[in-house]
Amino acid sequence: MGDECVTVVEMSIGALEAADRADAVIRWLVDTGVIVPNPVRGSAWQPSAYLPGPQAPAAAPGFGGTDYTLANNGVDILVERELYRDTSPHEAPACPDCGHELAEATLEALIRPWLDGHEPRVGCAGCSAVRPLGEWPDGYLVGELAVRFNNWPQLSQAFLADLGTRMGPRWRAVREQY
Ligand SMILES: [Zn+2]
Repeated sequence: MGDECVTVVEMSIGALEAADRADAVIRWLVDTGVIVPNPVRGSAWQPSAYLPGPQAPAAAPGFGGTDYTLANNGVDILVERELYRDTSPHEAPACPDCGHELAEATLEALIRPWLDGHEPRVGCAGCSAVRPLGEWPDGYLVGELAVRFNNWPQLSQAFLADLGTRMGPRWRAVREQY
């Protein structure tokens, strides 16, 4: 069985702000008891910097019992410019206005420019609406700050919204499988 994560990615803030926001987000997650620092970080069983805390069920109500620490179910706060994509089964990126699909080759060609610089704006071949690449559903995202929950039960919408807002104005949650 593979590992499954939900990663919340912020797409609009720069590197310096990402570092500041990361500190604030960590403080909030620790203060509210959702996560605790991992005392033996880096082990194969628990490689993450943080583990589920005593209040983890407040974020993910599906946690059962009283000991929430299972194999590889820590939390990582990622502060580096990185590419993310939802890897759960999904449709090809389609225009939110007309449903026309964005060709995979077009998408692939835009990854490097976004990683190396600014977010590309992409016109729809169907209706010619133009939107930033990150606004195409099921496409790629590039962000400087992300919070990854490894193998957690489903996060509540209220928690996701609270976390996302603390990370920055433009965030998305993506599902990743390894
Ligand atoms: Zn369109």
